Amino acid sequence: MVITTHQKPDADAMGSSLALAHYFQKKGHEVRVISPTNWAGFVNWMPGTAEVINYEQQITKANQLLDAADVLFCLDFNIFYRTKSMTEKLKSLTCTKVLIDHHQEPDTASFTFGVSDTSKSSTCEMVYDFIIGAGDADLIDENIATCIYAGVVGDTGSFRFASTHAGVHALVADLKRRGLDHGKIHEGLYDNFLENRLRFIGHVLLHRMEILYEYNTALIAIPKSDLVQFNIRTGDTEGLVNYPQSIQGIRFAALVIDRDEERKWSFRSKGAFDCNTFARAYFEGGGHYNAAGGRSSQTLDETVSTFKQVLSQQLSLTQ
Ligand code: 5GP
Ligand code: MN
Repeated sequence: MVITTHQKPDADAMGSSLALAHYFQKKGHEVRVISPTNWAGFVNWMPGTAEVINYEQQITKANQLLDAADVLFCLDFNIFYRTKSMTEKLKSLTCTKVLIDHHQEPDTASFTFGVSDTSKSSTCEMVYDFIIGAGDADLIDENIATCIYAGVVGDTGSFRFASTHAGVHALVADLKRRGLDHGKIHEGLYDNFLENRLRFIGHVLLHRMEILYEYNTALIAIPKSDLVQFNIRTGDTEGLVNYPQSIQGIRFAALVIDRDEERKWSFRSKGAFDCNTFARAYFEGGGHYNAAGGRSSQTLDETVSTFKQVLSQQLSLTQ
């Protein structure tokens, strides 16, 4: 079997894929994890990443594994285009495709069956439920606990977001009893960058952030020249969209980065503003109610103008 996830896997995507892979290996299955793209340093310490196949780098081998797979597990994404250059290959496969995901409005027609539950904090929580539900709690070892905890921390904003229901804390208590070293994981996720990334954040907050007080909104637009100047790598911009949320009154934060092939948007809100609907309506994206992403093929300046235009229609943000 093959386990895959969304492009540029974050802690939840990589953590859930690896946790499930470790579990299936313990059950005697032959299983490989294929990532559509490379991944950030802040997930590279997770047990098992050394065996993960990067589709873009090992396309022939990955395609062979996919062709031979009887089951394809699709974790932490809800529509095939989130796997970037793997999209057409995944669509063409005739094997059983199982979805395990917590994003809104899954493209159910693309999957044979699965679990899609937006009430779940993370896909890692769903993998934990899966293992417990199978009666295999005793198979949760340190590697599995580490991967699950990393994804839960990542997707709950360190147990802060509304998605952090009581069951999440119960899960953590259970993992702690099984020997989880949580401090090590926080260091791996958050204290694992180079100096240039912190200097880049300073530059961006000083020069690239605009506060639109009328809409209780913050906008950060990053040109490609900044990425080059600060030698920014995959994962270095993760979490940047959260900084403006520390300003009193800011309820909506938007970040756009000029990537080579597209302008990539991230949206975060507090309370009653639906980022998923906003991203779907205007920026070819989606995600969760309080966190979503999207894209644009316009130039950076154009897509920023589009954003300001559509923001002016979001009257709920002015109240
Ligand atoms: P991020 O801003 O961290 O890239 O993404 C926030 C959330 O929205 C994540 O849960 C991510 O999976 C989802 N997301 C990001 N970009 C897209 C997109 O283009 N389409 C969809 N459907 N979801 C996205
Ligand atoms: Mn997730």
